[in-house]
Amino acid sequence: MEVRNPADGRQVGRVPDNPGAVVAAEVGQLRAAQADWEACGVRERAQWLLRWQDWLIDNAARLTDVVQSETGKTRFDAEIEVPAAIDLAKYWARNAPRFLADERPAPHSPIGRMKRLITVFRPYPLVGIITPWNLPLLNPCFDAFAALLAGAAVLVKPSEITPLSAVELACGWAEIGAPPVFTVVTGRADTGRAVVDQVDFVQFTGSTKTGREIAAACGAALTPCSLELGGKDPAIVLADADVERAAAGIAYGGLFNSGQVCISVERVYVEAPIYTRFVASLTEQVEKLRQGQDGRGFDYDIGAMATATQRDIVQRHVAEAVARGARIMTGGNATGNFFEPTVLVDVEHSMSCVTEETFGPTIPVIEVADEDEAVRLANDSSYGLSATVWTGDRQRGEHIARRLEVGAVNINDAFANLVNFALPMGGWKDSGIGARWGGAAGIRKYCRQQAITVPRG
Ligand code: NAD
Repeated sequence: MEVRNPADGRQVGRVPDNPGAVVAAEVGQLRAAQADWEACGVRERAQWLLRWQDWLIDNAARLTDVVQSETGKTRFDAEIEVPAAIDLAKYWARNAPRFLADERPAPHSPIGRMKRLITVFRPYPLVGIITPWNLPLLNPCFDAFAALLAGAAVLVKPSEITPLSAVELACGWAEIGAPPVFTVVTGRADTGRAVVDQVDFVQFTGSTKTGREIAAACGAALTPCSLELGGKDPAIVLADADVERAAAGIAYGGLFNSGQVCISVERVYVEAPIYTRFVASLTEQVEKLRQGQDGRGFDYDIGAMATATQRDIVQRHVAEAVARGARIMTGGNATGNFFEPTVLVDVEHSMSCVTEETFGPTIPVIEVADEDEAVRLANDSSYGLSATVWTGDRQRGEHIARRLEVGAVNINDAFANLVNFALPMGGWKDSGIGARWGGAAGIRKYCRQQAITVPRG
């Protein structure tokens, strides 16, 4: 499969489209190596993770080049991937031994006191991780670090659109001399299906449509899975908010990575008294953004869309909105795979730009009468990934958060939950099943629990 930079169409790599037989061979080797990996203990596994982290540090600039070349991102957007991976490696290396330690619960009845009770966390031997294209280096790290520390062997199937960063990660794992318990197998959907069929736990990140297919396959085989799926994240801007700050935060939250983030701001509900000021500020800030891609330079804020298909979805959502009476305040046009950062107003809640995931650099804005209307419309979605609330009253923000049907809420900020690994990151409703990170649960999900009773005395 050819890999091309979507910003200029240049070929930047080639990888094999592996058939199921190659997946089976990799699975055999991983299973053979897993028992020793589990037996070596979590502290030794953490040392390997830290050596891999050092490799990431040593190769940061080159890896960022790879991320940029296969996604069409700007340097600004690509630069977050290696540091975030390093931070996550530290989090798990520091905490995994505590999270995986045996538990010794107190017996709940007199009869139980005749035994010592132990809960043990033992890994699923082989975890399959299937990833999308938007954060090609980070996505595999997000899940592989915890699964490896849990004691599992890991097989990653990266997106066919951006496989090169994951292949680099596997090279790094081999380069540090780590045991052969981490492999990357490239390919398309059929390769992913072969992975789903042959592993003991499936960790999937991608679209809701694919997530449903994987859930069905896992259901039939009784293979446990965790699904991190699409989103349509609302932002609620209350009349008491700092308007400039809310507009800046929403511009960033909606446009970082050209809007190609699962927790991008995808629709904005603004209370009537500040609606006009908010739209003016947002438009002014978005108009200033510079679009392009220039290798290691920092001259651009917004890069290309990763694929022409993705650009076409954005174009359709904007065109449908305009056909039904929405107005474009800025942006609205495509050149190649670049879609201009776009602010839409006079938007109705039933338009496709509000009901479907866009995954692009558009910010549709809707005026609402009050907090209740904003909460009702925010919750009126099949998705439930995350949300932001912008207000001068933090307590009120927290109160609104508890009314929202989503897996995470950031008050006066965008993406804050994504970099706080002590919190769980997972979607409700059509946005997924399960969560990543979030303390002990984020690593124990890769383990089977075992109960042991031992006679006392
Ligand atoms: P996608 O579902 O098209 O593909 C994701 C991966 O699944 C790819 O590697 C693909 O080859 C593989 N695949 C496709 N069909 C498969 C099948 N039947 N069986 C097994 N594997 C299969 O998603 P995408 O377009 O690459 O990514 C964009 C989507 O990912 C968006 O919806 C976005 O919201 C979502 N996403 C979610 C999160 C999150 O944490 N919730 C994070 C990033 C992206």
